[in-house]
Amino acid sequence: MVSKKLVAGAVAALALGGLAACGGGGAGGNGESAGSSGTATSADSPEVLTTFTILEDMTRTIAGDTLTVASLTSPGTEIHGYEPSPQDAAKAEKAQLIISNGLGLEHWVHKLTDNSPATKVEATTGIDPINIAGTDTPNPHAWMSPDLALIYVNNIVEALSQLKPEHAETYKDNAKNYSRDIEQVRQELHQGLAALPDNQRALVTCEGAFSYLAKDAHLKEGYIWPVNNEGDITSSQIRSAAEFVKDNHVPAVFCESTVEPGPKEQLIRDTGAADGGTLYVDSLSEASGPVPTYLDLLRYDARTIVEGLTTHAHSH
Ligand SMILES: [Zn+2]
Repeated sequence: MVSKKLVAGAVAALALGGLAACGGGGAGGNGESAGSSGTATSADSPEVLTTFTILEDMTRTIAGDTLTVASLTSPGTEIHGYEPSPQDAAKAEKAQLIISNGLGLEHWVHKLTDNSPATKVEATTGIDPINIAGTDTPNPHAWMSPDLALIYVNNIVEALSQLKPEHAETYKDNAKNYSRDIEQVRQELHQGLAALPDNQRALVTCEGAFSYLAKDAHLKEGYIWPVNNEGDITSSQIRSAAEFVKDNHVPAVFCESTVEPGPKEQLIRDTGAADGGTLYVDSLSEASGPVPTYLDLLRYDARTIVEGLTTHAHSH
């Protein structure tokens, strides 16, 4: 499954082993807050069950108060390597609709859906996947692209409308407003980056979770490791990323909220690039945190990227 082809910005071949875990520390399925999520009223037997907080928020925004919606994983939980609990299985059996991301994000979800009579929908249906560099495995993080988020929205509207046809108009209206808000963030990102010269249009992160967003924003993508952090980051991975930073005049580098900052700090020492800050990808924050909703997450990341790349931009 590993091909020789390296996508732009790829650094170092993918270590053999699971492609799954995306969080730091390498171990999968041991999220400290694994288990139930959602609000107290809907968490025990939600009508619509989603696999992670981003889908939960998208679905709830479209559903309004017509349906109870919950997420299997709670904010901050490592989602790629999540291990469903018996309580999760019980919820899945009672749910009417289960919405997952697909593209290989939740390779554990079949453990829940196999025995559930619920309708199963993948929010990425219809999206052209971008493969993880050097592999034939799709990168699952399509929700990071505001463009593709509109496909998520449409898929969720369709699924909810089949479940509750009497509310189809409501879902359509909610989705229209939601899509407009998402489109606004997209414009902010594009306008914010418009002045960046071609030879400085590159986004470097710890993990390659930004393939879709980078493509949207016409940024070359670089990273320290592809979509996995099994074991230690090697010095050759740091070296390759440092070369990418220098070759592309990258002014600032970023790291995802769910990973250890050590490799980024090393990269900054080796290249003199600025620290662009933290980006949010796999999970919303708690309500009191910086990204309690999906729109907040998109906007927060767009602003962080724009500020990092433009305020530190080289003058040549
Ligand atoms: Zn991830």
